[in-house]
Formats: sequence, C-alpha cells, structure tokens
Amino acid sequence: MYKGKTFIISGPSGVGKSTVLKELFQDRDDLCFSVSATTRPPRPGEINGVHYHFTDVDEFRKMISEDAFLEYAEYVGNFYGTPKKFVDEAMEQGKDVVLDIEVQGALQVVHKRPDVVRIFIAPPSWQALEERLTSRGTDSPEKVQKRLVRAKVELQTANTYDYFVINDTVERAVREINAIMLAEHCKPAERMAILSE
Ligand code: ADP
Ligand code: 5GP
Repeated sequence: MYKGKTFIISGPSGVGKSTVLKELFQDRDDLCFSVSATTRPPRPGEINGVHYHFTDVDEFRKMISEDAFLEYAEYVGNFYGTPKKFVDEAMEQGKDVVLDIEVQGALQVVHKRPDVVRIFIAPPSWQALEERLTSRGTDSPEKVQKRLVRAKVELQTANTYDYFVINDTVERAVREINAIMLAEHCKPAERMAILSE
C-alpha cells in the first residue's frame, strides 16, 4: 500500500484555518487531522483530544525530552507541538494527515521530511483578518494585537510555501485545498508505484 502524505496548513491566526478544515473533513475518512498538544487553555467549545491535547508546561517539556514531537514551537506565550507517533501511524495506514501549524513548526517539518506539502491560507485583506480575529471573540484585545503582529511576519513567509489559498469564501478555499490534494496524488512517483504493484 502507498504511504499517505502529510499536508501542512499554515496561516495567520483568525484567517479561518479551523473553519475551512472542519468543512474539508466532511465525508473524508481517507484524511486524518493531527491533534496538536498545547499549553494554551481551551476556548469555549474546544474538546480535549479533538481540537487539541490540552496540557501544562511540565508535561509539554517531558514530551520534548522524550522526543515525542515531530515539531514544536512557541506562539504568543504558549507552546504547540505535533505528536510524532500519530502522524507516522496514519501515514503507514495509507492515510493523508493534515497539520494545522504555524510557520516555525512548518519549517522544522520540511527539514525532517522534505516531501511534505505546505499550503498557506491568506485572508482576502488585512481588514478582513482584523475583523475575523476580533469577531471570533476568543481573545482579549491585547492577545488580538499580539496575534496581528505575528500575522505580519507570517504573511511574509507565504511565498516559501508550495501553494497559496485565499480564504475569501470557505467553499472556494475548501475546493482549492481538495484540488491541491488530488493533484499531489497524481505525481508520477505515486502513480508509477501503484502501476508497478
Ligand atoms: P483560525 O483557525 O485560522 O485561527 P477560525 O477558523 O477560528 O480561524 O476563524 C476565525 C473567524 O473567522 C471565525 O469567527 C470564523 O467563523 C470566521 N471565518 C472563517 N472563514 C471565513 C470566511 N471565509 N469568511 C468570513 N468569515 C470567516
Ligand atoms: P490557536 O491558539 O489559534 O489555536 O493556534 C495558534 C497558532 O498555533 C496557529 O497558527 C496554529 O496553526 C498553530 N499551531 C497549532 N498547533 C500547532 C502545533 O502543533 N505546532 C505548531 N508549530 N503550531 C501549531
């Protein structure tokens, strides 16, 4: 069986990554979401083990020392990391895995696994990003400002990604991500391996 692929989705906080991914995951049992560990407290409605593995700094550091992360990074005062075991097991089962991670972590994964596919999600405008981040209502004005400062830096890295999707409407963003995933499975290496089997 052919191994699954890893897809990274990055983009500024509030651009709509979770919203787009929720839609993408409808009726897709060939696709797995990599649930990250984080030291950030849960937002209302977030479920431990579904949206994140919520943990504390001591446990996070322990996981670092056990080399349990494929990558990890600090983001606006909290740690976030991708548990390695889950990603490896899903790919071995032939499933594609989606990582919703920020740009520093994405770079770490590229160095370890150069065949990863990176998709950057951008807002249709700076104003739209500010509005989405504020209207979500999950972060204090101070945190919103910190996330916007970080967003400026992140947007500058977008041209290093493999693909660039603008989340003007969720439907269009999902369509484009589906198209990217399909195209990546039409690469000669994979198709020829299937043929030779
Ligand atoms: P992220 O996961 O990137 O931090 P979210 O998915 O939480 O962002 O989305 C942030 C806010 O923007 C949410 O309130 C969501 O409903 C809204 N949103 C997401 N995509 C769109 C879109 N295409 N148009 C308008 N609002 C959107
Ligand atoms: P939020 O707090 O809004 O859920 O996430 C903040 C940022 O952390 C987002 O850019 C998100 O993509 C990123 N993130 C979530 N999980 C991980 C992870 O495991 N590793 C890294 N490096 N970033 C992550």
